[in-house]
Amino acid sequence: MSSESVVVVGAGLMGLCTAAALHQRGYDVRVIERGPDVGLETSFANGGMLTPSMSEPWNAPGVQWQLLKWIGRADAPMLLRPEALGHYLDWGVRFLASSTRVRYQAAIRANFLLSAYSMQTMRKLRAALDLHYCDARTGTLKIFRDQASLDASMKRGEALKDLGLLCLHLTTDQILKRVPLLATKSATIVGGIYYPEDEVGDAHLFCQALRSALMKRGVAIECGTTVTGFRTQGGGVVAVEIEGGEIAARCVVVAASAWSPALLKPLGIKLPVRPVKGYSLSVRLSDPALLPPLPIIDDDLHAAATPLGGMLRLAGTAEFCGWNARIDPARIETLWRFLKSCSPELFDAAHPDDARSWCGFRPMAADGRPYIGETQIRGLYVNTGHGHLGWTQAAGSGALMAAIIDGGHPPIATAPYSPLRSRA
Ligand SMILES: Cc1cc2nc3c(=O)[nH]c(=O)nc-3n(C[C@H](O)[C@H](O)[C@H](O)COP(=O)(O)OP(=O)(O)OC[C@H]3O[C@@H](n4cnc5c(N)ncnc54)[C@H](O)[C@@H]3O)c2cc1C
Repeated sequence: MSSESVVVVGAGLMGLCTAAALHQRGYDVRVIERGPDVGLETSFANGGMLTPSMSEPWNAPGVQWQLLKWIGRADAPMLLRPEALGHYLDWGVRFLASSTRVRYQAAIRANFLLSAYSMQTMRKLRAALDLHYCDARTGTLKIFRDQASLDASMKRGEALKDLGLLCLHLTTDQILKRVPLLATKSATIVGGIYYPEDEVGDAHLFCQALRSALMKRGVAIECGTTVTGFRTQGGGVVAVEIEGGEIAARCVVVAASAWSPALLKPLGIKLPVRPVKGYSLSVRLSDPALLPPLPIIDDDLHAAATPLGGMLRLAGTAEFCGWNARIDPARIETLWRFLKSCSPELFDAAHPDDARSWCGFRPMAADGRPYIGETQIRGLYVNTGHGHLGWTQAAGSGALMAAIIDGGHPPIATAPYSPLRSRA
């Protein structure tokens, strides 16, 4: 074995958690990030929920009809911009092909297993490194405005009970006991589901806390350096290329989110991961006592309101628009409308002038499961494609990645996440 470092490309949730797990196993790790600091891209202002309960990929059976129905509607929960179609062609075919009932169910179970393992790993990591990131074990509450959606969601939850998902059906009265703020609009709510084991936390704070803890322990995290490619020799990777030079590597983990496919393409690696834009709005309330005690999720709208460190984070919506990073006011308006539809009191207590809008690109795998493992190039690994579940699955994905690199018995089955499945 050579003495060079394992080089991790990208210092978002995935790269940092990978570095933490490798360091724990005794590896010398070097993280290379092109941005000026850690966690400034997709991991910056996400919905703040760690939710094994939301393990469903977004290509549910029938998704094609929904996408068609919503085309051109600025307030659609999932919006396909026709001008960006070229960006999603091959990927889109796989995305739709994976929406059969059998594949959808398999992806839910694979995601849940990784999410549940990730929650355990996160608790250990938090304790071992004394990390603080506005974390709390609040549980989450999904509210429903039609009975069929509630029944279908409850059925999906019950199907995961054998793997350990806890979910409780709540009547509207039971919901109001937990969150009295929902009273004004309670006539529109038919019921809900409470998931007691879900957690909340600020992903950006987590990245910063983890960065500091790792650097104190000798992990090199170098920001402001862009990886431009990889040098291979004899079928294996030997170095990452950067502007004006290269860094020798014992092996490499690409955790560069939806930018990973472009980095890997020159090596003939086709990774079906594409950016799917989402928005968030961080809102201060005139009376912080009004904050709900736990995240409220509206499944139909793909939107959530999460209490996070004294403010409210509204997040959601999905836009297939390539890399267009413009903040569309109509999408932000959808988040405000969602808040009003939950609680006019909360809406009135929010200051629009004091609200921070943000958008990020979820790295979405076509078949709804992340890619964690070795590519066809020896020593070149990927850890990406977590879509809407990246915060939930980060700690577990990092630990799984490190276990794969280390060899031996992995903590959970690795096949569902193998990068080689995209070649089949
Ligand atoms: C609106 C929204 C809400 C969300 N809400 C939730 C939620 O509530 N719960 C949940 O579980 N998940 C949520 N997610 C998903 C989650 O945030 C992402 O899956 C996760 O942040 C992805 O982390 P990452 O490390 O893969 O990507 P990133 O955080 O984007 O990190 C990748 C890093 O790689 C760097 N990089 C790229 N190319 C190079 C290069 N060539 N050289 C060097 N560095 C490079 C980038 O600069 C970046 O810092 C949400 C996402 C969005 C957009």
